[in-house]
Amino acid sequence: AAKNGGRGQFRFYATDLKDEEQERESVLEDLREALELGQLYLQYQPVVSISNGHVVGLEALMRWEHPERGFVSPGQFIPVAEDSDLINNLGEWALRTACEAAKKWPKSLRVAVNVSAVQFANPGLPSVVANALAHSGLEPDRLELELTESIFVGDNDETERMFAQLKGLGVRLALDDFGTGYSSLSYLRAAPFDKIKVDKSFVDSCTQKDKNSAKIIAAIVGLSNALNMETTVEGVEAFDQLEVVKSHGAKLVQGFIYSRPLNEEVVLDRIASGEFTIVPDGPDTYRPD
Ligand code: C2E
Ligand code: MG
Ligand code: MG
Ligand code: MG
Repeated sequence: AAKNGGRGQFRFYATDLKDEEQERESVLEDLREALELGQLYLQYQPVVSISNGHVVGLEALMRWEHPERGFVSPGQFIPVAEDSDLINNLGEWALRTACEAAKKWPKSLRVAVNVSAVQFANPGLPSVVANALAHSGLEPDRLELELTESIFVGDNDETERMFAQLKGLGVRLALDDFGTGYSSLSYLRAAPFDKIKVDKSFVDSCTQKDKNSAKIIAAIVGLSNALNMETTVEGVEAFDQLEVVKSHGAKLVQGFIYSRPLNEEVVLDRIASGEFTIVPDGPDTYRPD
């Protein structure tokens, strides 16, 4: 059980060890096929500026619909892919697909793509990103790579080198799920992120009686502003939550209260019908304050 402990859906008891291993292997096999058979696609979730409701960008989220398994959530299949080389292929496909999609959007809209720590540890990542940009023709500053604190477990020098190489391509880097890992402040000193994404777990509890979550959100927004980083608060579902995060200084929100992740065609329809009002001066001139 130790190997897979804490892996959400695939947590198991020792007696089920064999079944669990077999299930993971079968998921991995199907996932390899999925890429070739076109069972994978991306949805895009808007990031919205609270002050005026304008969409400033969208996060690409991977989806898998298997003929028998039905929809499998990325929370289930990404960890399986990360245990093998397959995450590099999935990640490359996601980067290419997202850049091509974003190329069809107004220039004021960015696209964010999740990059696994396994990909980050792969020296080939910068050329994968560069190829996705070159292929699509997308402006580098319209691509934001979402990294998590788990990239910092490796060798410090290599982490810094990878960081510099990615920044050198002109892409933006965001620290995803902030507050859920070790959240060492030395990461923020060492690594020049453009954005911090506050994890949904703080939002979930921010309207409860003990006001610590709301205060932590305020502190992260303040820290982020002080370091000239943007902040997106993730997972806002309800109006009372929106009120709290707004009153604690948040400017950008990503959550079901504004929109669930959307299919590419729906994004294009909304853009065409003007439902995606664009920030007049564009996100390039957006400042945290
Ligand atoms: P994440 O990067 O933190 O993405 C945000 C997740 O929160 C998404 O779940 C999104 O649908 C969900 N979410 C956003 N707003 C709300 C809300 O208001 N309420 C609720 N309940 N959920 C909300 P999703 O799409 O299931 O993805 C889960 C995780 O899987 C992602 O977390 C990310 O870590 C990973 N993932 C998804 N796509 C990719 C990918 O292309 N590559 C990699 N490496 N990881 C991915
Ligand atoms: Mg993300
Ligand atoms: Mg997140
Ligand atoms: Mg998450």
